[in-house]
Amino acid sequence: MSGIVVIFDFDETIIDVDSDNWVVNELGATDIFNQLLPTMPWNSLMDRMMEELHLQGKTIEDIEQVLNRVPIHPRVVPAIKAAYALGCDLRVVSDANMFYIETILKHLGIRECFSEINTNPSFVDEEGKLRVLPYHDFHKSDHGCKLCPPNMCKGKIIERIQAELATKGKKRIIYLGDGGGDFCPCTKLEESDNMMPRKDFPVWKLICENRDLVKAEVHEWVDGIDFHGILLQLITLMEDSENVIVDSTNLFDCKFKRIALRSIA
Ligand SMILES: [Mg+2]
Ligand SMILES: [Zn+2]
Repeated sequence: MSGIVVIFDFDETIIDVDSDNWVVNELGATDIFNQLLPTMPWNSLMDRMMEELHLQGKTIEDIEQVLNRVPIHPRVVPAIKAAYALGCDLRVVSDANMFYIETILKHLGIRECFSEINTNPSFVDEEGKLRVLPYHDFHKSDHGCKLCPPNMCKGKIIERIQAELATKGKKRIIYLGDGGGDFCPCTKLEESDNMMPRKDFPVWKLICENRDLVKAEVHEWVDGIDFHGILLQLITLMEDSENVIVDSTNLFDCKFKRIALRSIA
């Protein structure tokens, strides 16, 4: 077991689209989605959209079929399997929902690689309709973070994971994400952690504009080729650095410079 925890956002990080938009568009409900979008929070809108799809006669099997053909870069699944094989503890933190994520990960044959999926709960009700609930029940209490939507603060989830890791001895985190919602957790990472923002996506822009708020090493990635290459290099280097007992500070820095060069090439 390595001492590395890899935390993945899901939409536009593991898969190459937003799963909520993908289901709505593929099942022909884009117009009603666009009408409702200005009227309610995203998480409530997804629950409502599942009702709309149900009224239009779309079944849970229709949703599953659409999820099973979601676009994903061919290097992403091998990267996840390799990280798992190297003994990393893999987790998902996502503002999609449990049904979508479990359906897709099972279809890809990688569900068992993940020890934890933190996302909005969902279930199929007695009418066969998918219901999507908020991760934090914001009707009962406010999570108190101004950066994040009311239903989910990913930073709070990272703090919970960090507290759990602290009880198991020191562990280091690699976080991969693309969205604005991935910025809050990114500010919680320590200097010895690594942040992998997707280049030119909202979290990358937020990091560029607020560099002083991020303590972790930052390694941008563009596509599945980078996702695979940079993630596996980081895991190898972090493991090496753990095995070096004598003053390894300089050695470690040198290695990170090499990573930056290789990822540009
Ligand atoms: Mg995302
Ligand atoms: Zn937050």
